[in-house]
Amino acid sequence: MTETKTSLLHEKKYPLYINGKPIYSDHNIPVYHKYTGELIASISKADKHHVHEAVSAAERTFQSDQLTAFQRSTILLKAANLMEQRREEFELSLVREVGKTRKDAAGELDRTINTIRLSAEEAKRIAGEMIPLQATEGADNRLGFTIRVPKGVIGVITPFNYPLLLGVHKIAPALAAGNTIVIKPATATPLATFGLVELLEEAGLPKGYVNIITGSGSEVGEWLLEDERIAMYTFTGSGEVGKHIKERSGLRPVALELGNNSPNIVHEDADLDLAAKLTASRSFHNAGQACIAVQRLYVHQSVLNEFTESYLAYVQQLKVGDPEKPETDVGPMISEKEAIRSEKWVNEAIEQGAKALLPVKREGAILYPTVLVDTNPSMKVVCKEVFAPIVCIIPYQDIEEAFHSANQSEYGLQAGIFTRDLQLAMKAAKVLQYGGVIINDVSTYRNDVMPYGGVKNSGIGKEGPHYAIQEMTDERMVVMNL
Ligand code: NDP
Repeated sequence: MTETKTSLLHEKKYPLYINGKPIYSDHNIPVYHKYTGELIASISKADKHHVHEAVSAAERTFQSDQLTAFQRSTILLKAANLMEQRREEFELSLVREVGKTRKDAAGELDRTINTIRLSAEEAKRIAGEMIPLQATEGADNRLGFTIRVPKGVIGVITPFNYPLLLGVHKIAPALAAGNTIVIKPATATPLATFGLVELLEEAGLPKGYVNIITGSGSEVGEWLLEDERIAMYTFTGSGEVGKHIKERSGLRPVALELGNNSPNIVHEDADLDLAAKLTASRSFHNAGQACIAVQRLYVHQSVLNEFTESYLAYVQQLKVGDPEKPETDVGPMISEKEAIRSEKWVNEAIEQGAKALLPVKREGAILYPTVLVDTNPSMKVVCKEVFAPIVCIIPYQDIEEAFHSANQSEYGLQAGIFTRDLQLAMKAAKVLQYGGVIINDVSTYRNDVMPYGGVKNSGIGKEGPHYAIQEMTDERMVVMNL
């Protein structure tokens, strides 16, 4: 598909990739280095017939070329090993196409390799269950059990912020389960997907299993949603597009991983240094563009000053700038437009009475870590998903008030609480209306083996290889009359 194994780092034209064949379309879309602004590649814009062909290729492959579970597992394991060998190239490519720092890119690579391995292991454990039909009178001569069968063609749509990891969270379990795929990566960060599919095929995945179509979501994404041959859609991205996908997919299942405005509670009995250190480091990684990044920090009034001082000291140590420098902690956002949008939200909050504890500063696509106090619940920086390096510190007197405020959100992906009180920790686990509650760590904690997914407007369905495989397979009942 790509010309050389180091192709991710060279300026080049990326074709559509359908049934193992590169297809160059007449229209190209540029891909820029998110820090320097240089042109690093261009991708082909798919037409409607390309989308149709990609789905046809995936459907034919599904019907004709069934790999065994053992073969699927072996291919995935080999791909993980190949990625480990080429991690420098993948990391640098992420730094350039996303604007990720070297540290964040290394973290994404670690987790991606781990997720491919977890999926390889899961491929060998897909099983149904025995059903005790004898529980019903007159069924003694029946044997009942379930098997799990792949759904068919899975339509995958991914966002810009973790193009490799979030692609792998969909592609690896889909393959482990025996499905075939058509993927539309984000237009701003499409290159990682090409590198991943190249590795999978080098590891032995037959052509036609993963097909890549590129182009804008409003056109190419829509054509993908129109195709009734797609058995299931799995999407990570904004709530707006997620809702649209749900409306368009009719009775077909969807898995939607959407936004959040993550609350984190620091209670009066917390280990304040631990809380300050972890919240500071996970408020601004990936320039705040992570769906579970710390956004709202609810701090007990009695420890507010001590916590805030310690938090700011950690934040001030963060190095902002060129993401390619190994020491950088905070790099650019995905575009200057997004940085300007975030800066406007900050200025609007300040006009409405909020105060910034550090100078509000933007240089092009870089927004410096921004910490706000004296906010109110209706400000955008509090009630919406900021998806930027912006944090609001909000005091509370009573823990019930903190739980109530944390739940005052249309979202429900993950929340964090710092406390040494086991009873309180368990209460938080029950009352916080989130898909995950993290105790003595931040909302941002994600171990790729765990079930991950939100409630309310944060989506439907769970990821994590084991759980994604449940979503991407059908349970089939088998009854034998003996
Ligand atoms: P978007 O929703 O804008 O885009 C996501 C993907 O959907 C892109 O590939 C986009 O294409 C495509 N798309 C856009 N419009 C349509 C359409 N009409 N039909 C089909 N596909 C479409 O999200 P972002 O890329 O901006 O990512 C940020 C969002 O992702 C945030 O809200 C964040 O919270 C969420 N997210 C959630 C995570 C989770 O696990 N819950 C993890 C990471 C991010 P194109 O790029 O061409 O516009």
